[in-house]
Amino acid sequence: MESRRGVARVPVSADRPYAWLREQERQADGRLTSGLTVFLVNRECPWRCAMCDLWRYTLPAKAPPESIPRQMDVALRESGACELHWVKLYNAGSFFDLGAIPAEDYPAIAERCRGFSRVIVECHPSLVGAPLLRFRDLLGPGTQLEVAMGLETAHPKALEQLNKRFDLEGFRRAARFIRENGCELRVFLLVRPPFVPVAEVEAWLERSIEFAFDCGADPVVLIPTRLGNGAMERLASMGLHSAPSLDLLEHGMYFGLGLKRGRVFVDLWDVEQLMGPHPDLASRRAALERMNTIQGDGLTPAISSGFDRA
Ligand code: SF4
Repeated sequence: MESRRGVARVPVSADRPYAWLREQERQADGRLTSGLTVFLVNRECPWRCAMCDLWRYTLPAKAPPESIPRQMDVALRESGACELHWVKLYNAGSFFDLGAIPAEDYPAIAERCRGFSRVIVECHPSLVGAPLLRFRDLLGPGTQLEVAMGLETAHPKALEQLNKRFDLEGFRRAARFIRENGCELRVFLLVRPPFVPVAEVEAWLERSIEFAFDCGADPVVLIPTRLGNGAMERLASMGLHSAPSLDLLEHGMYFGLGLKRGRVFVDLWDVEQLMGPHPDLASRRAALERMNTIQGDGLTPAISSGFDRA
């Protein structure tokens, strides 16, 4: 499989997370709180979306039982885990994929989430259902479960070509299920996904942000589409993919915040490599980082999102 993809897996172990990091994130109530993001190692997600490179950080086979709680122990121990309000458990796939994270491990995972007021997991819309309710119940009333779903784009045809295997109605249904069951919704969107006509890229980014808010998302996270999985390199060589511009990233941030419907974050991971040499990249990156933190640009009252700035 990897030889056909042209990109290799990164060596990972079922005994420790691929990575963990401490971060700060602005909450819906305006507080800036610290948390822990854990990149868990398990089997590859069965979906195989065109732009996804997360399979590179997975195992070729199922992880053994109890490996996820063990990996959490490593992250909690190494990070110190004090003064942390939330934890993101990202598993390069769907948390509620029972082939990736067995339900038998839920109690041990929930036990390790005790003390965090918010737990954020990711899931494909098709797997939003009974396991989510079971995990929510194990977390208990003191811990808010937040489910992140990758919508990527609201462009129906591009969504199909990305091989996401859901349509907008299916996404809306899963979002409703999450919210009607007392959980909160985070939505990931791609900035300049392939298959969206070049002349419509900006308009579809705006429509996608609006669609995510219509589904009840808070926050919406804008992720620049990147190379790195082999398939995207092939699309780029065929002229079907180009990296998003800084202008487009900034436009998405300003547009989303201007709606005043919830928080908007831009994922700035690896943005230097993505953008290549750019005369004012450092200052514009810093400005976006600041906008992530204060949810405004600090200059334009019109886009401040209603709570006190840090
Ligand atoms: S569902 Fe998510 S993790 Fe799975 S292949 Fe698609 S983008 Fe990647």
